[in-house]
Order: sequence, then structure tokens, then C-alpha cells
Amino acid sequence: MPSEFDLIQRYFSRATRNATLGVGDDAALLPVSPGTELAVSTDTLVAGRHFFADADPYGVGWKSLAVNISDMAAMGAQPRWALLAITLPQADEIWLQEFSKGFYTCAEAQGVELVGGDTTSGALACSITILGEVPAGVALRRDTAKNGDDIWVSGWLGAAALGLTALQGKITLPADALAMCRAALDRPVPRVELGIALRNVAHATIDISDGLLADLGHILERSQLGAELLFDELPAHPTLTHFLDQPWARNCLLAGGDDYELCFTAPPHRRGEITAIGDRLQLALTRIGSIKKIPGLQVLDGAGQTIIIDKSGYDHFA
Ligand code: ADP
Ligand code: MG
Repeated sequence: MPSEFDLIQRYFSRATRNATLGVGDDAALLPVSPGTELAVSTDTLVAGRHFFADADPYGVGWKSLAVNISDMAAMGAQPRWALLAITLPQADEIWLQEFSKGFYTCAEAQGVELVGGDTTSGALACSITILGEVPAGVALRRDTAKNGDDIWVSGWLGAAALGLTALQGKITLPADALAMCRAALDRPVPRVELGIALRNVAHATIDISDGLLADLGHILERSQLGAELLFDELPAHPTLTHFLDQPWARNCLLAGGDDYELCFTAPPHRRGEITAIGDRLQLALTRIGSIKKIPGLQVLDGAGQTIIIDKSGYDHFA
């Protein structure tokens, strides 16, 4: 049986370039750039709740880091370092090897370094702490939306939720659509470059982890404002569009989680700059509604009628 130290040594000890001291001491030492603030966040993924217990370990490694990096994107921060606290039912080295590969592939793609963590035994779960840097004073927050702002969203929505619906056996998808939706669900790509480009442009920003209505709802609540969304403008993922006459599909679009796109608000005079950012990043940026003074979130159809007023979305304790 490998010891805890063997496992750390084998799977979580790759050399670092941007840390003074990484894995192996009592703490990591990180050279924080002058003039920046540290953005720090933690997210836990629990087997059976956030991923299937028998899920492909490479995907679990990728996604557990990607969702944390997404929080940095939503702050306009450059993700730099991560800590990994992993709890394992047993020392399954094949599982660990694949998990570690997925984790490091995502880390390298995003310029993040694993600098420490903890390894314990118990029910399968992994908790990651991510640290990023953002020039002092320009971080993107939830509580800074302004009345009259446009509401924007990046990419396409609903593919991850559609993939989950298919995996749960509720619908059947053609093989190519299923593959696309599974990729969206298992390998989300955090919008780090977009977050950085939106510094000094967007007013408020959030990443969509629990669904558009729920996450936009957090901006509204923190900013003490309301919003109108135009249903017909929402960028539904192409695999979802032809299901949209069905309520469950509209739910994927409005309340499906796990897309990890950014939702942000910005004043109308920034439209040109935002369109240019989308062109430069080759990323669809869509204007989906506007911020209103009166609290509440309304979704309007093409005729201007309210079609949904409650905000659903995933609540961990519901
Ligand atoms: P301590 O007893 O001081 O907490 P540990 O034995 O838990 O130290 O960890 C030894 C070293 O390995 C520390 O530098 C810690 O940050 C690192 N480490 C432990 N588990 C992980 C992991 N899963 N990923 C990355 N680094 C880890
Ligand atoms: Mg420890």
C-alpha cells in the first residue's frame, strides 16, 4: 500500500515556476505581484452530488479545477495558484493517475500551479482553493450593477444541463449532440481572458454555475436592483434550440447549471468595446436584457409578455 506521502509525491508534486516554495513544506510561499490584490476562493466537489461516483477521473480532475478558475474569471482575476484537499476512499492509483492528469492539463492550459494541499481518506471529494491576482481596485464584483445597464452573457447556454438530462435517461440525443453536451458538462472552459478584458468595462460580473436566473439573481440581490430578460435573445446552445417548445428545455436554458459562462452588466455606451472584445476573443457576447430600478427578475417573450417570474436554479439544501 502506498503511503499518503507516496501518493502526494507521485501525483501532486510537479515542479512549479511561479512559486518560491510549492508542495513539500509546511506551507507554500507565493510571490504576489506588487500593486495587486489576491482573489481567493474555494469550491468543493462531492462524489454522488457534483459528479457521478463512477465518473471518468480525468474529467473530475479537470472540472474540479476549472470551476474554481471560473470564479477567478468572474472576478476579472488572473488565476495563479491552487491548493487541493482530496479525500479518497482508497489509494486507487489508476484513478489518481487519471485525476492528476486531468487536473494538471487544466492547470497548464490556464497557467495555474498546484502549490499545496492535503490528502486524507474518507468519502470521495475534492476541495480546491484557488488564488488569483487582480490589479488593486479593478476586480469585477456582484454588487456594482447600475440601473440602465445592459445585461450580457458569453458563449451559449444550456448544453451542460442538456447533457445531464440525457445522462439521466430523460431524453435521447444523437451521438454527436450527446458528445458535445458531455464535453460541456465534463470539460468546461473558464472564461479567464474575458474576465480580464472586462476590467474597467463591466459594472458587475458573475459566472453561471447554478443557472442564469439564479446567478443573475445574485447580482440583482447584491446590487439591490431588478432586471428584464428577453427570452428570444438568450443564446441557446445549438443542440438545445429545437427542444425549446418544451418546458424542460426552457428550464435548461434559464436555470440549467454548469455552463461556466460569464454574465455581466455594462452601461450602453460600452456596447462597441464589448463587441470588439468578443471579436478579439472569438467568443459570442450577447445582450440579453437590462437592469431596472424596481427589484425582481422578469423574463419577457417576443410580445413583451412576462413568461417566467420565479427564479429557479440549483439549491444545495432544497
Ligand atoms: P502537514 O502535515 O504539514 O499538513 P501534509 O503531510 O499534509 O503536511 O502535506 C505535505 C505536503 O504536501 C504539504 O506541502 C502539502 O501542501 C502537500 N500536499 C498534500 N496533499 C496534497 C495534494 N493533494 N495536492 C497538492 N499538495 C499536497
Ligand atoms: Mg496536511
